[in-house]
Amino acid sequence: MIPAVMPVYSRPELAFERGEGAYLFSTDGKRYLDFCSGIAVTGLGHSHPHLVNALIEQGRKLWHTSNVFRIPGQERLAQRLVDASFADTVFFTNSGAEAVECGIKVVRKYYDEIGQPNRYRIIACTNAFHGRTLATIAAGGQEKLLKGFDPVFEGFDHVPFGNLNEMRNAVGPDTAAILIEPVQGEGGIRAADPDYMRGLRAMCDEFGLLLFLDEVQCGMGRSGKLFAHEWSGVKPDVVATAKGIGGGFPLGACLATEKAAVGMTYGTHGSTYGGNPLAMAVGNAALDVILGDGFLANVVRMGQVLEKRFTGVAAAHPKVFGGVRGMGLIRGFECKIPNTDVVAALRRHGMLVVGGGDNVIRLLPPLIIDESHVEHAAEILDLACRELEA
Ligand SMILES: *Cc1c(COP(=O)(O)O)cnc(C)c1O
Repeated sequence: MIPAVMPVYSRPELAFERGEGAYLFSTDGKRYLDFCSGIAVTGLGHSHPHLVNALIEQGRKLWHTSNVFRIPGQERLAQRLVDASFADTVFFTNSGAEAVECGIKVVRKYYDEIGQPNRYRIIACTNAFHGRTLATIAAGGQEKLLKGFDPVFEGFDHVPFGNLNEMRNAVGPDTAAILIEPVQGEGGIRAADPDYMRGLRAMCDEFGLLLFLDEVQCGMGRSGKLFAHEWSGVKPDVVATAKGIGGGFPLGACLATEKAAVGMTYGTHGSTYGGNPLAMAVGNAALDVILGDGFLANVVRMGQVLEKRFTGVAAAHPKVFGGVRGMGLIRGFECKIPNTDVVAALRRHGMLVVGGGDNVIRLLPPLIIDESHVEHAAEILDLACRELEA
């Protein structure tokens, strides 16, 4: 008999009752160090007082009106994101896939608007992940996500991540945009080289393409800058973000320049929930913290502390781990044994991480961690490795 919850997930026997900062407490009373953050979502940790207050205060006043009316919190959050980024305009969604979908529509509409509707193809990368809707599984191009859902949504080409020559060879007369994750997340925490990013920008300028970045996982402070592409100095045309933007409240955003969004006029796109007053109250509160004094500097510093400490752990356990990859607080441990075994061993010892492509475990701690959390994590990693080696 099919379970009441559609059985598309495989879950351990584990549920949580409450969370506090970097820790989660299970229904059976155990404490876990959360280095998964609901997959890069709860970036400010659990039960952050500023977010809790914003949610409760707004919850008492007004949850939802509709995008047919003005939403002051939405205007405020959009303006703050514009002021803090490359973008001139923002569309709010409820999820990452919807933010990517909006970006795809922005790209297609741009070429339609400038009289080149034949240019609709987007070159993306192999091992990418852009979401689970029909268009975003096509964008991701991964066989395991596409299988059984034919016909595949038209208009995506794929080349290996990090290779400028292959990208250039894939550009044709119908190409509209290049789409990459500045740090591939699900694909196994691969950070794009700054030179690769700059090369893509130059290629886009040369061929008149739009540079479309998926920062759903690596954006909103996780790399140590608000957006990961900032490390390369490159200015994109369109960016999709989500996960960390609401600190756990379902929220996403598609950011674009005025040029790229030229066709996004009245009636071309919309959402019932996207950017509603409740989401905007939490989103504004999360941005208060992320843009607050010293917050991103702490992410950079903790990223360095973590890299140093964890590289030591990996070196001490060469049968379990290869190197540590990634940047800021979006990190991966390369595993020498099945990553699912490592995830399970860490869980037994009270630490939560999540697997990723290329047999890595992903470390996505809340961005509020300090040295004590890194130290605690290193101790658990060490214990779990000893157990796995025995
Ligand atoms: C998680 C993710 C998505 C999809 O976000 P959803 O909120 O699950 O729809 C898209 N792109 C990237 C890079 C992601 O990590």
